[in-house]
Amino acid sequence: MNVPFLDLKANFKPLREQILKEIEDVLDNTAYILGPKVTAFEKSFGTMHGAEYCAAVSSGTDGNHLALWALGLAPGDEVIMPANTFVATAWGATLCGATPVFVDCDPRTYNIDPSKVEAAITPRTKAVVAVHLYGQPADMDALRAITNKHNIFLVEDAAQAHLATYNGKTVGALGDVCSFSFYPGKNLGAYGEGGAVTTNNPEIARKIKLYREHGSDKKYYHQTYGTNYRMEAIQGAVLGVKLPHLADWTAKRRAVAQQYNKLLSGINDIILPYEAHNVEHVYHLYVIQTEQRDALQTYLQEKGISTGLHYPVPLHLQECFNHLGYKKGDFPVSEQLGEQCLSLPMFPELTQEQIEYVAHHVTAFFASNTVTLAQEKVAQ
Ligand SMILES: *Cc1c(COP(=O)(O)O)cnc(C)c1O
Repeated sequence: MNVPFLDLKANFKPLREQILKEIEDVLDNTAYILGPKVTAFEKSFGTMHGAEYCAAVSSGTDGNHLALWALGLAPGDEVIMPANTFVATAWGATLCGATPVFVDCDPRTYNIDPSKVEAAITPRTKAVVAVHLYGQPADMDALRAITNKHNIFLVEDAAQAHLATYNGKTVGALGDVCSFSFYPGKNLGAYGEGGAVTTNNPEIARKIKLYREHGSDKKYYHQTYGTNYRMEAIQGAVLGVKLPHLADWTAKRRAVAQQYNKLLSGINDIILPYEAHNVEHVYHLYVIQTEQRDALQTYLQEKGISTGLHYPVPLHLQECFNHLGYKKGDFPVSEQLGEQCLSLPMFPELTQEQIEYVAHHVTAFFASNTVTLAQEKVAQ
């Protein structure tokens, strides 16, 4: 059997006719950028995430940039963010000319550790970016208490967390501004690049729309600097078809996670994902930790099971941030995760048979390893 890490074909198949019709509609109407389908999608997506304003953009990375740009981030400013995240979180700051400041993560949730944030605040700090990593919302109440106290912004990077909830509220308007990604492999994926920025603040929303479109709300009149971060109409059409299925896909991801939790619970050598009591994790990724990560990954690959690493090198140890002066040992939790994390196949269409096949081989790997270790002991 083969178990892919992700199966986008299985996701497309049942929607094929509807999506082709929507794309054909865009082509017939020749409105290729933004347009009515994108506007309709913005409205539904924003509403689903408790946000009054939603701007569809060209990628999650561009959304990260717009979110901080609209807050007025500029050279000399510092932005606090977790060390273990995808690098695009940091590009939000660097594209504004601001400096990313990394902090370690909580050893159970792997999200930014609020108890580490306050020590990283300086007079230059303008914002904290909470990444809802792997689909689990960060500890927003604790972060909000800190950002309020220091009068700085709280930003969400929800690229992996569409429809995730924190204290019963969806992500998207838990901070001052939030960005999402519709990269094809995300929980809600376009058929190309895409992203969105949401907020309940009208002034921030106004700036996001201006910067997204050449600093202009009237063609050829430019009130401010801007760029082109608009969403393509075809992506809006695809996302409009997919959005009504998102809640169902999310429930299926959660059910897959529960199955894995149940089937893998007896293995002492792995740490399973932890879900905080006040959140609904949407399992963009199902990440386990083990000291034998590389051997397990190779073993599973031999059995036809594809896995991933999210992320092997924390941001403070990336070459591009050498000049910031971090060193190995600065953020032990993130560093351990980099060495020990393994993402198992996770997508809504995973079958019971595939889940059991994965669990069976993870279990078999540790069973045979235990035997080998015991034999080595006897041999000594
Ligand atoms: C995917 C991702 C992004 C970037 O999104 P793109 O649409 O690929 O540009 C940003 N932050 C995080 C945490 C991500 O996972």
